[in-house]
Amino acid sequence: MDIGFIGLGSMGSAIAANLVRAGHKVAVWNRTPQKAQPLVEAGATLAQTPAEAARAGVVITMLADDAAVESVVHGPDGVLAGLPQGGLHISMSTIGVELGDRLAAVHAEHGQGYLSACVLGRPPAAQAAKLFVVTAGAADQIARAQPLFDAVGQRTFAVGDKPSAANLVKLCSNFMLMSAIEAMAEAMTVAAKGGVAKTTLLEVFTGTVFGSPVYQLYGEILAEERYRPAGFAAPLGLKDMRLIGVAAEQLRAPMPFLGVIRDHLIEALAQEGEDIDWAAVGLAVSRNAGVQPRSGS
Ligand code: NAP
Repeated sequence: MDIGFIGLGSMGSAIAANLVRAGHKVAVWNRTPQKAQPLVEAGATLAQTPAEAARAGVVITMLADDAAVESVVHGPDGVLAGLPQGGLHISMSTIGVELGDRLAAVHAEHGQGYLSACVLGRPPAAQAAKLFVVTAGAADQIARAQPLFDAVGQRTFAVGDKPSAANLVKLCSNFMLMSAIEAMAEAMTVAAKGGVAKTTLLEVFTGTVFGSPVYQLYGEILAEERYRPAGFAAPLGLKDMRLIGVAAEQLRAPMPFLGVIRDHLIEALAQEGEDIDWAAVGLAVSRNAGVQPRSGS
């Protein structure tokens, strides 16, 4: 299939590489064009503007946040201008519910299709084409996009006709992840202060009722205090906690845990800088218990 791909960060470059590997004809665009070089060497072509990438007829965006997505969609060089009538924009970025609704509306006005197709999984899962794709939108558009989802993920979940439903599910998922990280960090801190090694606690957790990928993956990061390099950068995690908070406010659904997690994330960012993984909430938790982190974590 001819596709455009916009956004070659940690996730986007891995996803685009898998699309090229699966035999699709991919035109890539990134704000910092140098990042496209390895993909061009692998067989992609370099688009000069987002509009040029969108001219392929199906275009995927995988960008940091709402502002980044809006910046590539609008304007004379944007996706809306380049995507032909009947074309399809697949938004994989973790963006707000409200932006998901606005994108669906503006593409419909232009006679174009739109799907939100958020992904679960970190960069290693993206590299291995093992992402989980959570999508929503018109069933015929999901069917059209399915070969692309199959090339980048291990399973697709269709969660509704309204595209922003996928954005809501993704934000809920990140809230659940962050809650699990916070809970594990608190448990590991109290256990370590009581003389039980974090790794011992992790072995018990993952060998019993907590034997799931979230506890395994993040439990190891917390036990090893391995917060750099960031697989999922804390500023992006903070963005997601803000976006689920906005949705919760609009839907009148209180989320009291969210305030605690969000503040620990802000605390970790304030103390450590912007380059940490979001699992570094563990640092805020242990510092509050008077435990200093290992140097270099
Ligand atoms: P990343 O490595 O920071 O990449 C961000 C991308 O957005 C880069 O291509 C960057 O371009 C671009 N960008 C940022 N601001 C821009 C702007 N104003 N205009 C145009 N382009 C802009 O982030 P990532 O980890 O790949 O995450 C991408 C999205 O996937 C985010 O929404 C994130 O929440 C979500 N996500 C991440 C993970 C994960 O584990 N990392 C997992 C699932 C979903 P430059 O190269 O020019 O900076």
